[in-house]
Amino acid sequence: MPLSPEHRAEIEAARATPRQTLRAVSEGMEAHLYRAHEVLDHGFVRVIDYMGDDAAIVQAARVSYGAGTKHVSNDEGLIRYLMRHWHSTPFEMCEVKLHVKLPVFVARQWIRHRTANVNEYSARYSILDREFYIPEPAQLAAQSKVNNQGRGAVLEGAEAARVLAMLKSDAAQMYDHYEEMLSQEDQQGLARELARMNLPMNIYTQWYWKTDLHNLFHFLRLRADAHAQYEIRVYAEAIARVVADWVPLAHAAFEDYRMGGTALSAKGVAVLKRRLAGEAVGYEQSGMSKGEWREFEAVWGA
Ligand SMILES: Cc1cc2nc3c(=O)[nH]c(=O)nc-3n(C[C@H](O)[C@H](O)[C@H](O)COP(=O)(O)OP(=O)(O)OC[C@H]3O[C@@H](n4cnc5c(N)ncnc54)[C@H](O)[C@@H]3O)c2cc1C
Repeated sequence: MPLSPEHRAEIEAARATPRQTLRAVSEGMEAHLYRAHEVLDHGFVRVIDYMGDDAAIVQAARVSYGAGTKHVSNDEGLIRYLMRHWHSTPFEMCEVKLHVKLPVFVARQWIRHRTANVNEYSARYSILDREFYIPEPAQLAAQSKVNNQGRGAVLEGAEAARVLAMLKSDAAQMYDHYEEMLSQEDQQGLARELARMNLPMNIYTQWYWKTDLHNLFHFLRLRADAHAQYEIRVYAEAIARVVADWVPLAHAAFEDYRMGGTALSAKGVAVLKRRLAGEAVGYEQSGMSKGEWREFEAVWGA
């Protein structure tokens, strides 16, 4: 269960205490504030605070005294222009602070995104909860035969049961030993900062994670992508849904140019021009590597 009844009550209490402000407010984001969006079996993402909205991006780009332009269509055009031309600093004017609960092996991938501020739950100070990520049957998959960094066929029958039983019993045993090792009144045991070293990577941790919209888009571009590992991708997808409500114009531009768009190398441009002129250009004439050609053809091939 991602949230205890006490945690739910704290969230409801926070949401029941509105405050007046002169600051820019995004109605879409206000609906998300404090609420937990469940991810995986025990995880969640929730917005703790945010700064700015679509108008704040426009306002910063124009360095204006007021709230940007009066017309949504003008704002949309400018935001699309900024996104198209990698004019990124106006997007940095919007910020978001998230509370995330996630398995440690997901946190290891996430923390590589250095352009954020992080404060993690201290397992030196506190005892970790007995919560482990156990994949859904559809996510219990064998090593991919074509992609060294991916998974292939989903396990079935006895093999799925064997793997699942090991995941569950190992996690339970390691947590039992963690508890048994901790210093207690009747035994010297180990300090919390040491006892935790025996815990598996699928145990859950929590952190506050703050970043700006430009770097958040970069994170989403990499982690909401089909090449990202499923377990971090579902977090990125949950955040992307929140961002769509927070800054709908910027999110739509991001979807169009970054997630849905594609970059072309000079060689790619040349091949496309020759093809449009009626020439039959294949891999041998392209000057590209095999990998580049495969990726080029995946988008532009017949
Ligand atoms: C599909 C996938 C597979 C991956 N596989 C591996 C792997 O096998 N091994 C591995 O180690 N990592 C791997 N990574 C992690 C990846 O290499 C990056 O560390 C991670 O995606 C964070 O990206 P970033 O550095 O651009 O983000 P951020 O740290 O948020 O940085 C954003 C941008 O800021 C700039 N920047 C930040 N810090 C610096 C700096 N110190 N110096 C210069 N510029 C800086 C860069 O332009 C950077 O792109 C993988 C990532 C993905 C998405």
